[in-house]
Amino acid sequence: METAPTPPREPQQAQPAASPSVAPLVPGTLYLVATPIGNLEDITLRALRVLKECTVVAAEDTRRTGQLLTHFGLRKPLISYFRFNEARRGAEILDRLRMGEIVALVTDAGTPGISDPGERVVAQVLAAGLRVESIPGACALVVGLTASGLPTESFHFAGFLPHKSGQRARRLGELGAIPGTLVLYESPFRVERLLGELQRILPGRRVVLARELTKKFEEWLRGTPAELAAEWARRPRKGEFVVMIGPAGDGQGVETTMGTEAGCGEAADTHEPAGANGAGEDDEALESPQGRSPEAAVA
Ligand code: SAM
Repeated sequence: METAPTPPREPQQAQPAASPSVAPLVPGTLYLVATPIGNLEDITLRALRVLKECTVVAAEDTRRTGQLLTHFGLRKPLISYFRFNEARRGAEILDRLRMGEIVALVTDAGTPGISDPGERVVAQVLAAGLRVESIPGACALVVGLTASGLPTESFHFAGFLPHKSGQRARRLGELGAIPGTLVLYESPFRVERLLGELQRILPGRRVVLARELTKKFEEWLRGTPAELAAEWARRPRKGEFVVMIGPAGDGQGVETTMGTEAGCGEAADTHEPAGANGAGEDDEALESPQGRSPEAAVA
């Protein structure tokens, strides 16, 4: 008896370990998916599953997210969702959700909605009576704050300061009156200016600069604004920074002299390209901390 030839088998691809508690994705849901802030090992299994099973990925930068998906062996339709097309794309995302699609929203790095697009579409989706789920993962403010050595019980995250001098000084004055640790994002091109402002406005505070978190050249600088300003003058203005400012009157149990701590080596990454905000995040954001590709591959 003749039998039909067996068709060649599709190659098996690596899957994240299945867990009995894994619930299927819910149609008509907007998933906010946190992505790594520099170290690709920081993607979660759940993030990979959502990116694999969603209908479409809405990305701040489709090229960059395309690279991330390719790295993890994923292929998905991508639509752009960034600050200047939020209104139009928000309406499209709503239409898609109403049709039962599953939309994953990602930004260039970290958690959507934290100094990144997300807040507006979340409000629109909820107002339309549709679902939103947040898939937790890397967020620079949490990575910085938790290892800063400053109080974590109460903190205030203020994102980026305004660019204009008068507005910055006013804002810093207001923020300085809030109890708890203050957490800011800042471009490397404005760190020096910020340290000068802190010397004038909050001179006695303990400050921590966390640079290139989770990356090969992760580095920490701790000290008063004056100490850090002196140290800053000796350094290349490169990398991405979280700036943390201790509460007024804090001095207990935290080191008081300025010290620097390199992560995996000296801060000698002078070849790094500057990103859109001058943050030099572009290429290194797609690297593992040892500069090699992580092994994860999910289909
Ligand atoms: N949504 C992101 C998050 O969850 O952290 C933040 C996006 S915001 C546009 C980018 C800023 O976050 C940078 O300018 C820097 O202040 C901070 N940042 C992002 N990645 C960082 C890193 N690896 N190390 C230090 N700061 C980082």
